[in-house]
Amino acid sequence: MRSMVEGNGATCVFPLHQPAAVEESHVPLFDPPHLTMGRNRIGPLSAQIDKLPRRTGKAKPMPHQAGCLCGQVRVSIDAEPMAARMCWCRLCQYLGGGSGTVNVCFPSDRMTVTGEVRWHHSTADSGNAMRRGFCPECGTPLFSVAESRSHLTFIRAGALDDPDILGPQAVIWTDAAPHWAHLDPELPHYPAQIPPVA
Ligand SMILES: [Zn+2]
Ligand SMILES: [Zn+2]
Repeated sequence: MRSMVEGNGATCVFPLHQPAAVEESHVPLFDPPHLTMGRNRIGPLSAQIDKLPRRTGKAKPMPHQAGCLCGQVRVSIDAEPMAARMCWCRLCQYLGGGSGTVNVCFPSDRMTVTGEVRWHHSTADSGNAMRRGFCPECGTPLFSVAESRSHLTFIRAGALDDPDILGPQAVIWTDAAPHWAHLDPELPHYPAQIPPVA
């Protein structure tokens, strides 16, 4: 069965699958039950950080998985990431709680989404009409889609079960970043928008 996700354009159809069962029992915030990263239960913060995955860059098998903090929205992506960028545009600073956002690009037609996604429509600093998807339950920012290029969906890296699958390859909209922003000196910097991925 296939179903249009609310607010999506005609080119962005996601098959409907049953979401994975989510435990009812209480679990700590740092260990949502729907994640399958193999992290242990919460302990001292230093021990928690020690258990976070390292930036090994090793290839992970598809399909890649993503979702929101509360588990209401789950995403399965049967494609490798096409690109990843850190964006400091003013709008991303709202989404990122003050920081920029890291966004990983996938082909829209290779994504399967379960759960309700709510979309916010706006015009980006670039002038592009955009829609941004988030979980209406927990508010986690999940997706960004340019209306003119709806074959591409950017997933917020923090929503990926494994944010290590691809780190940012460029920093964009650096002119909009606050003076205290740390911009990775090892990545190329661009003052504003750069050409589309595909
Ligand atoms: Zn949620
Ligand atoms: Zn941005």
